[in-house]
Parts: sequence; structure tokens; C-alpha cells
Amino acid sequence: MGNKVLSTGVVILAIGIAIGFFISHNGVTLVDSVQAAGGGEVGGRATLADPNGTVTNPFHYSPGTETLGKDEIRVTACGTGMPAARRGQAAACWVVESGNGDKFLFDLGTGSMANVQALSIPADYLTKVFLSHLHTDHWGDLAALWAGGWSGGRTRPLEIWGPSGAREDMGTKYAVEHFLKAYNWDYMTRAVAINSVPGQITVHEFDYKGLNQVVYEENGVVVRTIPAIHAGDGPVSFILEWNGYKVVYGGDTTPNKWFMEYCRDADFVIHECMLTPEQLMIFYGQPPARTMMMNTEIHTSAQAFGKVMSEVAPRHAVAYHFFNEEGTRYGIYDGVRSTYDGPLSMATDNMIWNITRDNVLERMVVSSDEAWDTAGPTPPPLPDNKYPSQETQFIADGRLDWKSLEAEWFGAFREKNGLEK
Ligand SMILES: [Zn+2]
Ligand SMILES: [Zn+2]
Repeated sequence: MGNKVLSTGVVILAIGIAIGFFISHNGVTLVDSVQAAGGGEVGGRATLADPNGTVTNPFHYSPGTETLGKDEIRVTACGTGMPAARRGQAAACWVVESGNGDKFLFDLGTGSMANVQALSIPADYLTKVFLSHLHTDHWGDLAALWAGGWSGGRTRPLEIWGPSGAREDMGTKYAVEHFLKAYNWDYMTRAVAINSVPGQITVHEFDYKGLNQVVYEENGVVVRTIPAIHAGDGPVSFILEWNGYKVVYGGDTTPNKWFMEYCRDADFVIHECMLTPEQLMIFYGQPPARTMMMNTEIHTSAQAFGKVMSEVAPRHAVAYHFFNEEGTRYGIYDGVRSTYDGPLSMATDNMIWNITRDNVLERMVVSSDEAWDTAGPTPPPLPDNKYPSQETQFIADGRLDWKSLEAEWFGAFREKNGLEK
């Protein structure tokens, strides 16, 4: 059956190339999306009827240009890679937006905030962070959200939901408390100049052993967790439910009984999928036995990913947590397709999905490399002056007295903005 689907896909792919809309970046997944969408929207040609009009482009999402439907969920992959930093693919991070206006971050892996930032979402809408576990490829960019959003106009503290560990020092509360201690210099010096409140972080630590336990319930959105099996006690998978939709983010996990029990019949399931043992040998120089362990005990092999998806049967499956490139994607894809023939995306960064009742539309985000902050409706709070200057007399004495020069340079600026000389 898998071969039949694959060969159907090859035919569609060939047609795609023939009429010139093949996107090499996600060629493999486009085939699946065409199937998922019933050959409709995804495969349609861009059309320009009015020479002065706009093109409806079925492949691209340009941030800030589309209203999210009231009964729609939008998921954006802002990080899909691995712990090693790579310019082309950040580590795990997913933005989930529901039609009621809520936005959630699931993991914040190293390098991912640049992609989040380019979505033009005001910092005030990105205050809810759910961490699957505490490996850096899942929370290494918390600093960028924390400090960047703080100076970018966030008006309130960040909130982080994350699992406990088998010991207190292995839990999310401990991690965030010590994160703030590590960044004490940043906090103290930034809080002098701007309001200190958005620099705070509220932690909601929950029991990693909870089975389908509700860890968040607000505004019609419920987030539940189940334990994940990955590297040690602590990791979890998340299940978000809203308006009858069910979206699962597995985090890192090897296949487990809880995933099979609680993630069935979801609309959209994101699950890790490891590089093949051969690829781990080539790209990481790992010995064969270790590559097998990576595939079977710590992470999920391509074949096991396919089997998981065949069992839980989501409307759309997403494989991530591998560097997606020519040297890797076909080997992984073959492994997945040996055990799963349903709708599938082989994720890479800036892939985006619109989930509606009758369709899952996959596209690529086209965003700016030079994105600035987008202002929200609430102006940033004024400085609260809670913290004294962190500069001692030693440093103050080193300042040059260039007031007269400043008066000359900035005279017009001061006058225009009503500043004293
Ligand atoms: Zn991990
Ligand atoms: Zn990971």
C-alpha cells in the first residue's frame, strides 16, 4: 500500500514539475499535502487576473497578511532541527495559534526566536511557553524571547509551563529560577532603564507523570500532558484541544504506551523522527551500536514514527527533529513510508499549516530576515524605577564630559523633542 501511495505521489510530483510549480525546498512533503488537500488548494496555480491586482499564491504565507479564521488553527514550525546550531534550521519550536486569538509557544530551541520574530507577532501575544523538556534544543532560546520581548514592548511577565523531574533540581521551576540567576546581570541592568515587570517569569510546574492531566485551561483552550520517554524522567508530550480540534506536540520521545492511548484521532500530530542509523554514522561519526540506541531507546526511528502514526491515525502527521536536507530526507522518508501511508509533512523551519474542518493546508512562510518588533495594542509600561543604577563611581569617573559636544550634535533633536539641554 505504501508503494502505491508513493507511486501516486511520484506521478503528482512529475505533473508538478511539468507545469512548473514544484518547490524543491519541500518537494517530498508537497506531494503528501496535495494528497491531504485532495489535490485542491495546495496544488493550484497562482493566478493574476487583474494586472494591477494581487496574486493568490497557494504556496506562501506572508506574516501579518491573513486573518486567522474563527474556527481555524494555524501551526508554524519555527524550529525543527537538532542541538547543533545550524543557520538553515533552528532547534525545536512551534507556534500554535487558535482562531479565538490565543497563541502558544511549544518549546523554544536554540536559534528559533529569529523565526518567531519574523512572524510579526507582538511580544504581548507570546507570553505562554510550554516546555516539553529541558534539553537546550528545546529551550535554548528562552533568553532571546525573555530579553528581546522585554525590550520589544511586552507588558507582563512570561509564563512557562513545564514538567517536574524525578528530583527537584531536574524540574522546570529549578531550571527557570537558575536561568534568572544566570541572567541576573542582564535583569538588573535592564530593569534600571525599563519597567521590571515584563522581565519576570512565572513558572507553572506540573507532574511529569500525569496521564492526560490538564495543565492549562483558559478561554476554551485545554492543554494536557502525558509522560514521554526520552533520556531520563521529566519529558512530556502536549495535547492541545480547542473547539473540537486536537493538536499534539510530542516533544522528544521514543514510542510509548501513553502516546498510543491519548493521541488517537488527533487532527494534527507533531512527533520526532530521528536520522537513520546510517546517517548518524555518516554525519555524527557514531558507532553502529550507538546509532541503534539513538533510534530505539532515546528517540524514534523513521520506521517507528510511521508505525506510531499508523496507530494514532491523525488527519495530518508531522515528522521533525532531523536536519532536513538532500542527504537525509529521502532515507528518512523511505523509512516512514515503509510503515505509514497517510498525510505527512517532513518538517523544516518556516513550514506552516492552516488546519480547518475539511483541510490541512501546508505552505512555507516567506518572511523578512530583517524583521523588527511589531507593536501590540497596549503600550509598554513606563519605567518603574525600582532598581538603582548598577554603575559604581569607578565607572562613572571614566566617563568623558562631552556635554558641550552633545549639545551641539543633538541640539536639533533635543529641541524637536522638548528635551532639556
Ligand atoms: Zn531531548
Ligand atoms: Zn530534542
